[in-house]
Amino acid sequence: MLGLMQSQPLLISSIITHAARHHAHAEVVSRTTEGALHRTDYAGIERRARTLARALLRLGVQGTDRVATLAWNGHRHLELYYAVSGMGAVVHTVNPRLSPDDIAFVLNDAGSGLVFADTSFVPLLAAVAPLVPGVRAFVMLADPAEMPEVALAPGQALLCYETLLADADEDFAWPRLDEEQASALCYTSGTTGRPKGVLYSHRSTLLHAYAVNLPDVFGLRSIDRVLPVVPMFHVNAWGLPYAAPMVGASLVMPGRHLDGASMQSLMNSERVTMSAGVPTVWMGLLQHLRATGGTLDTLRRLVCGGSACPPMLIDTFARDYGVQVDHAWGMTETSPLGTYNTPKPGMAALSPEDAKALHYKQGRAVPGLDMKIVDDAGTELPWDGATFGNLMVRGPWVTRRYLNADTDATDAEGWFATGDVATIDPHGLMEITDRTKDIVKSGGEWISSIQLENIAVAHPDVAEAAIVGARHPKWDERPLLIVVPKPGRAIDPAALLASYAGKVAKWWTPDEVVVVEQLPHTATGKLNKLALRQQFRDFKLASAAD
Ligand code: ADP
Repeated sequence: MLGLMQSQPLLISSIITHAARHHAHAEVVSRTTEGALHRTDYAGIERRARTLARALLRLGVQGTDRVATLAWNGHRHLELYYAVSGMGAVVHTVNPRLSPDDIAFVLNDAGSGLVFADTSFVPLLAAVAPLVPGVRAFVMLADPAEMPEVALAPGQALLCYETLLADADEDFAWPRLDEEQASALCYTSGTTGRPKGVLYSHRSTLLHAYAVNLPDVFGLRSIDRVLPVVPMFHVNAWGLPYAAPMVGASLVMPGRHLDGASMQSLMNSERVTMSAGVPTVWMGLLQHLRATGGTLDTLRRLVCGGSACPPMLIDTFARDYGVQVDHAWGMTETSPLGTYNTPKPGMAALSPEDAKALHYKQGRAVPGLDMKIVDDAGTELPWDGATFGNLMVRGPWVTRRYLNADTDATDAEGWFATGDVATIDPHGLMEITDRTKDIVKSGGEWISSIQLENIAVAHPDVAEAAIVGARHPKWDERPLLIVVPKPGRAIDPAALLASYAGKVAKWWTPDEVVVVEQLPHTATGKLNKLALRQQFRDFKLASAAD
C-alpha cells in the first residue's frame, strides 16, 4: 500500500518562492566589485530570477543546458542560482582561481554554452575565450555603464546582464520538474589531476539544505544574518545560498573583498551573526583583529571547514572575541556537508581539557549521511578514536558517478571512498588524520601531517605551516616542516622543533624546518600539497646523510 500524502517534487524553485512569500523582506546585501553595498530582499531576488529565466529562454537555453558562472558571492550570482536551476537548466559554477587551461577544460567537459562573469575577470575571459569554442556568449554581470571591452573569439558575443534583464519581463512560472533532474554542477579543484564534475540534483540539494539547517548543524534561523565567505563557486558556498532563504535568514555577500579588514567591517556594519569559510580566511581575520585591536560586535558563530581547523583558531576566537568556531568536514562530492561538531549530552561531564579535545574534531555524521572507516582490504574498523582507516560515506547528497564517467564512483553497497584517513570515537566523532596522499609514511607507520601542522601554527612566531614527507633512505619518508613566519618575527628552528616535545610521539617530530616567505595554495584556498611535495620531496635531509 502506498502512503496517501501529496507528492510534491523537492525543487530548488520551492526554496525561493517560499522565501519570497514568507520572508519577502529578509535582506540580501552585497558588496559590489566596485566596493559599494547593494541591497535587495528575497522578493526582489525571486522576481529578478523569473525575469532572468525569461532572458535565458530568449538566449536559447533549453532542457538541462549548462549555464556557467565565473562570479564572486553577490545578488546577481544568487539570481543565477535560482533562475538557471529553477527553469530546469544546470548552473555550472566555475572556480576562477583555476588555471585558464583548467577553466577551459571544465567549460568544455560540461558543455556550457553561456558564461556569466564578474567584470573583475575580464583578463581571465580573454585568456579562456579562444579555448572554448562551444561558448556562444559571455554575459558581464554589470550595468551598461560598467561594460568592459573583452577580446573574444569569432562567433562569441559579449552581453550585458542588466540590459538582458531590462529587455525581459517577469511573466514566468517555475516549471514542475522531476526532482531527480540535474540542477547544479561543481568541479573538484583538481589537486590530484584534472577536475571532476559533480552533478547535483534538485532532490539532493533540497535534502542537503534541510539537513544543514538542523539545530546540531548550521541551525540557521530567520533572525540570523549569514555571511558566506566560502565562495559560491566552491561547492555552492556549502549550501548556504539554499539553506538561508529556506528559513528566511538574511544573506550578506562579500563579493571579492575577503581580506581581514573588509570582513570585519562588513560583519559589524551588517550585524552578521554567522559566517562560514576555510581556515586561511579566519587566520586572516584573526591577524587583522590582533593587529588593530578590533572587535566582532554581533558575530556569534563561525563555521570552519575545507581543511583541518587549527585548535588555536577555535580557542582564540572563543577566548578573545566570544565567537564559537564549529568544525565541519565535507567535500565537493558530499554537497558538501558530511560531519559537523556539536556536543552530545554525555560530554558535559568531561573535564574542560577532554571536552576541548573532542570539540577540535571534524564532528558527527549529519543526519541522512552514514560513514565508516575501513582498512585497505575493506574491513570495517572499530570506533575507538585511535584506529585510523579510509573514510567511506553514503547518503542522498553523496555523488554516485562523476560527470562523463563510465562507471560509478561507489562500491556495490553504495559507499563512496573519500580519500581521507580518519578515526571515529565512541561518541561517533570523526577526526581526519590526513588525506591519503598527504600522510607521511615513516618506517611503515603513518604520521598525520595535520597534527604536526596544528602544533606549528600554535607557535607564536608562525603564520602558516605545511608538512611534507621528504624521501629518506632508511625510513622511506620523514616529516619536513615548512613554515612562514609572522610579519616582523624570526623563526628559530630548534625552538620550534622543541615545541613538539610532549605533544606527539618523539619519532613524529619533524626532522627539519625550512623557512619560506609564502606557501602555495590551491584554487579553494587550501595548502597546495601537490606543489609542495614536488618541490620538497627530494629535500636533502641532514638525517638522511647519517
Ligand atoms: P578538493 O578535493 O578538490 O580539494 P574539496 O573542497 O572537495 O576539493 O575538498 C575536500 C577535501 O578537503 C576533503 O576530502 C578533505 O581532505 C578536506 N577537508 C575538508 N574539510 C576538512 C576538515 N574540516 N578537516 C580536514 N580536512 C578537510
